[in-house]
Amino acid sequence: MLRPRSRSWLPLVCLVIAVVCSARPLADDPALAASNGDAFVSRDAAGASWTVGNSAIQFSVGFSRSRTLTVESFWSPANGAQLDVDQTADTSITLNGDKLALTQSGTLSFTGAKASATDAGVQLEFTFEHTTLHTIVRRFYVCYPGTPTIETWTRFEAPAGAPPVAVSDMSAWTFTMPLQPVRWINGLRGDNASQPVPPGDSFAVDGGDLDEGETDIGSTARSSEAFVPLIFVGGDVNEFYGGVIWSGEWRIAMTRAADRVTVAATFPGISTALTPDRPIEVPHAFFGYAPKSADAEAAALRQFAVNGIRRGRPIQPLVTYNTWFPYGTSITEADVDEEMHRASALGVELFVLDAGWWLGAGKNGQADYTSGLGSWTADPERFPARLIGLADEAHDLGMKFGLWVEPERIALETLRMPGGANEQWLATTGGSYNTDGRSAIVCLAAPAARKWLLSKLTTLMDSVHPDYLKWDNNAWTNCDRAGHGHGETDGNYSHVMGLYTVLDELRRLYPDLLIENVSGGGNRLDYGMLAYTDSAWMDDLSAPSSHVRHNIEGLSKAFPPAYLLSFVINSAQESIYDYDLAQIVRSRMPGVLGLTYRFTDLDDDLRQRLAAEITRYKLLRDTITSSAAALLTPQAPVSEDGWDILQEVSDDHRNAIVFAFKNDSDDGTTVVWPRGLDADTMYGVRSVDNGDMGSASGADLMRDGVQLVHAWDGSRAHLIVFTAQ
Ligand SMILES: [Zn+2]
Repeated sequence: MLRPRSRSWLPLVCLVIAVVCSARPLADDPALAASNGDAFVSRDAAGASWTVGNSAIQFSVGFSRSRTLTVESFWSPANGAQLDVDQTADTSITLNGDKLALTQSGTLSFTGAKASATDAGVQLEFTFEHTTLHTIVRRFYVCYPGTPTIETWTRFEAPAGAPPVAVSDMSAWTFTMPLQPVRWINGLRGDNASQPVPPGDSFAVDGGDLDEGETDIGSTARSSEAFVPLIFVGGDVNEFYGGVIWSGEWRIAMTRAADRVTVAATFPGISTALTPDRPIEVPHAFFGYAPKSADAEAAALRQFAVNGIRRGRPIQPLVTYNTWFPYGTSITEADVDEEMHRASALGVELFVLDAGWWLGAGKNGQADYTSGLGSWTADPERFPARLIGLADEAHDLGMKFGLWVEPERIALETLRMPGGANEQWLATTGGSYNTDGRSAIVCLAAPAARKWLLSKLTTLMDSVHPDYLKWDNNAWTNCDRAGHGHGETDGNYSHVMGLYTVLDELRRLYPDLLIENVSGGGNRLDYGMLAYTDSAWMDDLSAPSSHVRHNIEGLSKAFPPAYLLSFVINSAQESIYDYDLAQIVRSRMPGVLGLTYRFTDLDDDLRQRLAAEITRYKLLRDTITSSAAALLTPQAPVSEDGWDILQEVSDDHRNAIVFAFKNDSDDGTTVVWPRGLDADTMYGVRSVDNGDMGSASGADLMRDGVQLVHAWDGSRAHLIVFTAQ
């Protein structure tokens, strides 16, 4: 096993990189140099080693130590921390069952490297050709400014006339590094309003010391059913993190051997056919190396999400009203009209008509959102002015208008309707739809199915003009049906690729459209959906508040908090009448503030108090929108008199909010030590309820902390705002 070089080489590399960034010394070979902001690609003088990185990460690969494309170094120029990574290949290729390495010469032979600046970062591309199949294999590494993260993927292309080639055992990345405790975030795990899982299981930050042998996280269906597709491996100064940008099946295996661990992100069990007209791309993935602290890791992932995955498209949380919980499918135009006027007066900015607006919905009761699904036609009896009338009214009231859709599923009864889906497009596994017997998944691998779906979506968009689609997905089938352009093992892969194609086209046609990502709760919370969607519903179980906070506190480790949507709801555990309303609302404020209630639930007093909290959220929102989150305590729910405290610090470190929640209402105090403030900057500190708390430097605040005093007659939710002076 080759070990990395000693630290003594660092100053030399720093010097070389400084020259690369400032003077572009590779001008004599410009095809191999690229920069964008602080992101760059460089090649060493011998021409056998390439570095992609920025001021926070440098990742070098090359052929200098072997004939195989090999990881040479992986370190942080910001603090000199170096990952002691094995100098081996970081991926493998399997074509027609042969596992192959990316080699300078051999079965797969290197034909060139290309560096380029892209709209969002820089890209390093290595190209190889199979000597007999003539398959072209491209390996990509991409870096974006402002995040210590590298995106990577492999692409396969077949020349004209080539016979099909089986691509299998897809590998995203693999690294062997020192053994350290690992952490991951649990997935939804089936949590929902009617069958909650044990408290604290879904979206819990979990992990610990690894046993000898292999520990896996992953999914065989949708991305985050059991785990969020992301892993952290501890370190002394910096931590490794890595994940996949993918909404279907995946695996991250952690294999401990003595004092080393091999971490590998793969897409196992898939064999898919490469043909000249069907290039195959392994799902994109990423890895990074950030300073070991919750705020630095979250900031690194937030910058990757926004600058990289979303190509700079911002996340803009809107105060969102939703009709589902009070109305279900028993909703009419008159209900929506009444609610829209009341919601607008409270300060709601986005009104979402949830499931139930179409012909045939609710045949089996208020919760029946399957009947009629796929008709794509508003029920003319309940919505005589059609939906465009409601969209226009929302706009007149100063709100955006959103509609629930579940594009990937249809009720079987709609197959008989004019314009309905074709039964041949439906996903089956072993000949069964594998759903509830009344509905089925439309396999988006089939081009004709995608064309049909896009026509339904564009007709809806063009006839209703919604600003927002709540894109749900309540069932899943790993399709093995013939005739869809996929085989027996790549239905999952091919559907997700088809889904991305549809979302991509929708984005192209309607660039301002906002899309909410929901999948029976958060079954598809991943970086693939984050590329296309602007908010994400976490969990149908929207109470108690400690459960909502538990979800935000876990998921904001992976995703920008402003992406995470939950609702204020009147629940049996927490009645909005006799409970701490500020605590209920503020528990949702670290993310997207949503509300779901029937207007008749609110008397004037409650309405005023709710409106005041909405106003408060809007005052804090610029910071929430531009922040990464870090949990400063154990994840909620905490012990009886404990506190759970989440902080959000803006990208420029000039604004921060501490969301501190006391579990019980008894008198009590705690001290909050914020992180990630600028040490030399003076911050004014203010309690949302109690006013000015004074000012201090970032260094003093982080060292001495801020004491919070809770009195039994005040809200248990304490919001502390830090503003650079
Ligand atoms: Zn299929």
